[in-house]
Amino acid sequence: MIKIENVTKKFGQTEVLKDLNGQVQKGQVICVIGPSGGGKSTFLRCLNLLEQPTSGKISFEGQELTSLSEAQINHLREKMGMVFQSFNLFSNMTVLDNVQLAPLKVKKLAAATAKKTAMQLLAQVGLADKAENYPSSLSGGQQQRVAIARALAMNPDVMLFDEPTSALDPEMVGEVLTVMQDLANQGMTMVVVTHEMGFAKSVANQVWFMDGGVFAEKGTPTQIFEHPQNERTKAFLAKIL
Ligand code: ATP
Ligand code: MG
Repeated sequence: MIKIENVTKKFGQTEVLKDLNGQVQKGQVICVIGPSGGGKSTFLRCLNLLEQPTSGKISFEGQELTSLSEAQINHLREKMGMVFQSFNLFSNMTVLDNVQLAPLKVKKLAAATAKKTAMQLLAQVGLADKAENYPSSLSGGQQQRVAIARALAMNPDVMLFDEPTSALDPEMVGEVLTVMQDLANQGMTMVVVTHEMGFAKSVANQVWFMDGGVFAEKGTPTQIFEHPQNERTKAFLAKIL
């Protein structure tokens, strides 16, 4: 579904992504782990062209991203839902309006259809009873679940998560991870940058360890967590596990 070939990214003279390669198959969950500053967010942002790779190729569903027009890029972004560390909800809108806004404005869905879908998604993340609330009245975990419902409302083919639980109080991490686990169980293709090693172990098909702008090691959770081969992977895991 996503193919990454020889992707590099430079900010000025600094090369933060170095010759990355990889493939994400439909239905797979890829967890990207690694130390701060290693390039994880930059990599994720390259996948939906929030950042332009300096060189290399990324294709999504057979289309090469770098060759797309502005309109095609916007369409592509609709197919890739993204959830950030900070929830970025619209504070002046209700939960329901946050979720149905893009389907109404971008997909031009009929009001009743958009509302029905939005309510189904809110039920899926356990927040149907909060539809008329404003984000400020929700906990961080609830806001992040709304953000996930909002991303799902565009009916994406893949979901990209950048440390979705890092800004949460510990007691709220679980409810967000449960929603993500449910999504994975339903077959959603997901690329998840995370420090939640328990989630990576139990949900990921593949773990990609990123350090210094390269995928230093890739493997199944068992390979990476039980039998890491790379010295940098070993050092990183020793610090956090
Ligand atoms: P963290 O775990 O802290 O989120 P990360 O693995 O996501 O880290 P990135 O945010 O991708 O790392 O950053 C990789 C490197 O690129 C860092 O050295 C960072 O300072 C640099 N960088 C990221 N964005 C920019 C930018 N817009 N301009 C210049 N340098 C940048
Ligand atoms: Mg980051």
